[in-house]
Amino acid sequence: MSVEQQINSLREELRQHNYNYYVLDNATISDYEFDLKLKELEKLELENPQFFDINSPTQRVGGEITKNFKTVVHKNRMYSLDNSYSKEDLLDWEKRIQKMLGVNTISYTCELKYDGASINLSYENGILISAVTRGDGFQGDEVTANIKTIKSIPLILQDNSFENFEIRGEIILPLDGFKKMNEERVEAGEDPYSNPRNTASGSLKLQDSAEVAKRPLDCLLYHIVEPSNKFKTHFRTLEEARKIGFKIPQAIEVCQSIDEVIQFIEKWDEERHNLPYETDGIVVKVNSLAYQDELGYTAKAPRWAIAYKFKTEQQSTILNEITYQVGRTGAITPVANLEPVELAGTIVKRASLHNADQIEKLDIRIGDTVFVEKGGEIIPKIVGVEISKRPIDSQPTKYITNCPDCNTLLVRNEGDAKHYCPNEYGCPTQITGRIQHYISRKAMDIEGLGAETVELLFKEGLIGNYADLYDLKVEQVIPLERMAEKSAENMILGIEKSKEIPFEKVLFALGIRYVGETVAKKLAKHFKSMDNLMNASFEDLIAVDEIGDRIAKSVIDFASNLINIQIIDRLKSYGVQFEVSEESLEGKSEKLQGKIFVVSGVFTIFNRNELKKSIEDNGGKVGSSISKKTNFVIAGDNMGPSKFQKAESLQIPIISESDYLEMLQ
Ligand code: AMP
Ligand code: ZN
Repeated sequence: MSVEQQINSLREELRQHNYNYYVLDNATISDYEFDLKLKELEKLELENPQFFDINSPTQRVGGEITKNFKTVVHKNRMYSLDNSYSKEDLLDWEKRIQKMLGVNTISYTCELKYDGASINLSYENGILISAVTRGDGFQGDEVTANIKTIKSIPLILQDNSFENFEIRGEIILPLDGFKKMNEERVEAGEDPYSNPRNTASGSLKLQDSAEVAKRPLDCLLYHIVEPSNKFKTHFRTLEEARKIGFKIPQAIEVCQSIDEVIQFIEKWDEERHNLPYETDGIVVKVNSLAYQDELGYTAKAPRWAIAYKFKTEQQSTILNEITYQVGRTGAITPVANLEPVELAGTIVKRASLHNADQIEKLDIRIGDTVFVEKGGEIIPKIVGVEISKRPIDSQPTKYITNCPDCNTLLVRNEGDAKHYCPNEYGCPTQITGRIQHYISRKAMDIEGLGAETVELLFKEGLIGNYADLYDLKVEQVIPLERMAEKSAENMILGIEKSKEIPFEKVLFALGIRYVGETVAKKLAKHFKSMDNLMNASFEDLIAVDEIGDRIAKSVIDFASNLINIQIIDRLKSYGVQFEVSEESLEGKSEKLQGKIFVVSGVFTIFNRNELKKSIEDNGGKVGSSISKKTNFVIAGDNMGPSKFQKAESLQIPIISESDYLEMLQ
């Protein structure tokens, strides 16, 4: 095989695996093997630049920077949808179209209404040539470089049943991916994103496509614009689109009457809570493409389709008070204290008001009757005010100017939605918040010490920063409220033990803004010691893979602050780990990150426990029995036949001890 053939065959193979994994949700290869093949392709492409192809699977990681998104006029206008809220609305709609078409029976395709950002993809000769946002419906922004990083979108089609066409869909952020992104943000001291839809549409406008590639975006398609109507019905067209590589959700159904449509709606009004992504309704479309053409469009929406909106649970209640919370990083969050009200099965007493702009925009005032809604977010939000019920003596809300905790004048930096208390080292909530972060499970994991005790210790004047923890004596702690001798001892022991926690965790524990768990690991690995990190220049920092301006600046700010320098010196003198230990590096890596192994049989190079330890030291996990989640089975001599069969039937690769060692190379 020539190099060119080799490259092409690898590309084809990887494309097929991507399709199976991202579109069909049915992996046919382990992640590890996929990575190996991708690396092989990368290498060949690098050695043979004459065969470069922008649509190669290796290009999915992004890297292209777009400073200004080009405005593009849509070849075919992108419409909105008319809404309906009841069976009557749907029957009225049916009557209208029956009359226009002069027929009595119409069949429909029902789909979920995906809640994200709409996108128009253009394909020519089977290749994705552009991706444009809906914009105002007449013209949108070209975001092709960003869209190409979404792995469920085919760059090259498996088949070309449509020739040149446009396909429309919704870019969404699945709920678990959204949750994970937010967990990482909160850990790094940033505000969580408010909902998946805004985050998805915001992602499309990021300038750095490599950043987009890291977000777990997906694209669900719902409409092909193709004038020949080759496949006669909308449903058949979608089936065909699925066949050639597009992700068309399985939930689509043909209904022969509005009654059947109602059944579909009722089913999904329940089921939607189990979906991996958000949906705010369903879309009913006339199935026959000829009928669709006949019905055409109004100025705003197709006549052949209508959206049915699920009822979002909303309640009205009285806003009693607005309080303000100070976060660990000094960010201020206004909180609405409500007259308790039942919403979606739970009693709601508080709702987030996000920031000053939000309060001003809705003109929310104390004493107002407000509407509370539970969307995709965990915390309910206020979506409006019933002005007619406003008390006559009501006053506009004046946002606080000073910290509710330490009375320092708040600041609001350009570009920040939130106000901050700048009194980092004097504001009680920030002080205790930082110590609570320091002792938390993912950080120093101090046993015997909890968030409430930290507050107590601070109030009693026993600690003012995390270094003070190491000076605590049992005798000082025992007199505290609800503190038995035994628990005081446990606490001091727990603090003592934290001196063994490895550097990367210590670095995370310090609570440097924007330095979350992953960033801390990267910095620890690169700089090897706190001294090196504290002495690093801005240029040194941004030279590290994935470390940007914002993080670099934050690290520099931290390292140049005298208070921090003193605290670090003290921690060092107590014996807290500020260097990557040789021991911890030996035989350790992250190579098996996310992989689950099951070991079975008798081994020659390792004994069983050594093998298990080696897997864990390299970031992998050891599972006790073979399941769909297992990535590899490592088989020694005398592997049990039932395990063998199970692995075979689930198509899990069975590897030998030496294959395993090779994997670590
Ligand atoms: P609206 O934004 O409320 O006017 O609703 C119209 C938008 O719904 C369209 O622009 C699409 O982006 C979106 N949408 C989501 N799911 C579907 C679907 N299954 N069929 C058509 N449009 C959809
Ligand atoms: Zn303060």
